[in-house]
Amino acid sequence: MAIREIVLEPNEVLHQVAEEVKQITPAIRKLLTDMADTMYEAEGVGLAAPQVGVLKRIIVIDVGDDNGLIEMINPVIVASEGEQFGPEGCLSIPGYRGDVRRANQVTVKGFDRKGKEITITGTELLARAFQHEIDHLNGILYTELAENYYEIPPEEEEEFEQEQEQAQKQAQKQAQTTEAQEPNQEKE
Ligand SMILES: [Zn+2]
Repeated sequence: MAIREIVLEPNEVLHQVAEEVKQITPAIRKLLTDMADTMYEAEGVGLAAPQVGVLKRIIVIDVGDDNGLIEMINPVIVASEGEQFGPEGCLSIPGYRGDVRRANQVTVKGFDRKGKEITITGTELLARAFQHEIDHLNGILYTELAENYYEIPPEEEEEFEQEQEQAQKQAQKQAQTTEAQEPNQEKE
């Protein structure tokens, strides 16, 4: 288990476009593992490689639904529909949140750590997480999209966490996953 330091805004690395991964090396697999460890340690639902200072197109997400941990290399949104509007936060901008308009459902294609193509469709919180993390790969922070942006009063932090938990439960019910091939259960 290795926790990496989360890059905080303002930092140039958060505003740059990340490069596609050409080859899945042991270093990339280690990065995926470290990113998940770092995300769980920070109690986030998603993390993009630029947030640990690596300009590569890699994301990890776990919104607490049936998908469990999603690791995705070179993710691309191939379909989106509907609309949702709600609060978002970012591990690189602690203590703040803002309301962002997002697609309510997205289908994302990418590769797992073995180089196998995977396709996942997510709604609600999972869709929001995909859009937020993929934005990071293009150097876009949610603060650029938010219709309002505000500091979380300390007494509301707990309430926000409860809201997130509720959203997670909601996501669990609505989780929809399709994979191009057999789900890969192997963990390294
Ligand atoms: Zn973020």
